[in-house]
Amino acid sequence: MNAHVQGCAAGTEIATSTVRRESGQREVFCGLTGIVWLHRKIQDAFFLVVGSRTCAHLIQSAAGVMIFAEPRFATAIMEEKDLAGLTDANDELDRIVTQLIARRPDIRLLFLVGSCPSEVIKLDLSRAALRLSQKFSPAVRILNYSGSGIETTFTQGEDACLASLVPAVPPGGTGEDRLLIVGSLADVVEDQFLRMFEALGIGEVQFLPPRNSTALPAVGPNTKFLLAQPFLAETARALEDRGAKRLAAPFPLGVEGTTAWLCAAADAFGVDPVLFETVTHPYRARAERALMRYPGQLAGRRIFLFPDSQLEIPLARFLSRELSMQLVEVGTPYLHREHLAEELKLLPAGVALTEGQDVDLQLDRCRSARPDLVVCGLGLANPLEAEGMTTKWSIELVFTPIQGYEQAADLAELFARPLVRRAKLVA
Ligand code: SF4
Repeated sequence: MNAHVQGCAAGTEIATSTVRRESGQREVFCGLTGIVWLHRKIQDAFFLVVGSRTCAHLIQSAAGVMIFAEPRFATAIMEEKDLAGLTDANDELDRIVTQLIARRPDIRLLFLVGSCPSEVIKLDLSRAALRLSQKFSPAVRILNYSGSGIETTFTQGEDACLASLVPAVPPGGTGEDRLLIVGSLADVVEDQFLRMFEALGIGEVQFLPPRNSTALPAVGPNTKFLLAQPFLAETARALEDRGAKRLAAPFPLGVEGTTAWLCAAADAFGVDPVLFETVTHPYRARAERALMRYPGQLAGRRIFLFPDSQLEIPLARFLSRELSMQLVEVGTPYLHREHLAEELKLLPAGVALTEGQDVDLQLDRCRSARPDLVVCGLGLANPLEAEGMTTKWSIELVFTPIQGYEQAADLAELFARPLVRRAKLVA
């Protein structure tokens, strides 16, 4: 379809850059952070972090001040005193889960989320999940995954969570192909995509994670899946092990990324190119109009992206190609070459890519480059602002709906706003 449809990614630019690899000190949230958006997405799920007071503090501060009377996450605090013996710790965990389920009959899916304190590492959470599942099934399904800072950076928590769901999904058939969208999207974005897939005549579309655990998608050899997020390596592997086939595509950020992403599904489901053009053109035209005011504010501005969310490469592609920003350095905690292949083709030749992090060295490079805008984690933003640099918190890019045509201008605005704010401060 690429040859026929205006707007589909042509993929003519091949990145010739070599990737710098660093493995020093990192400055990234751990995978527990994913709970902040996942608990809103799967509405009958509960996330029980098995961790320390530090873990409890982290997710509460990441979620902001607790405004929910009954939040759908909590921390079972396991400290030395709980570990006179492992039996005690397991008994303690069973007691907490039993109490929770008795108090919250709305919970249908409970995740035991592992963390990195040594007291927790000693506990076998997969056995605990099995034991507790036997006790509470079928009313409540109990799964486990790790959000530990040793094993995961913050968006990898979502990957670990979704991968843990895959063994629980029902088997798909070998009949008519079905499309599965993988990766959490804001409900409003999901609804927009659903309307477009429907207009394209692509049958019943399923989502992982679903909004409700009773709506787990069936997965099998007739499943073709599109990743909506670039940080889902384990989940994709688990789906492929079930026979599902990944559709290669850039990610749906910006007009170009969204078109190419939809185009990959349209190609796989035999959608007529004329229909694709008819359905997508009005959305594209509106999104392009909404984006028109941003190159004036952003073109030529130099941006440095620290490795944080794994969204950095698709973002860099959008910023350079649709807003004409200059990429000083693009960091990513982990580069999945296969999943990012369609994105890498679209980056400007010679771009400086970094995989992993050695935070001090990277800060040195950033300081000497003096970019106009730095995208980084909360821990780096304040010191850099104090040095006179303009920053954007990468975590905001994960919490804000940014995918799809209707969000393309909102995404540009996220980068323009700090520059406008800085200009006002200076004026
Ligand atoms: S899991 Fe580890 S890194 Fe994350 S908050 Fe708990 S102690 Fe800290």
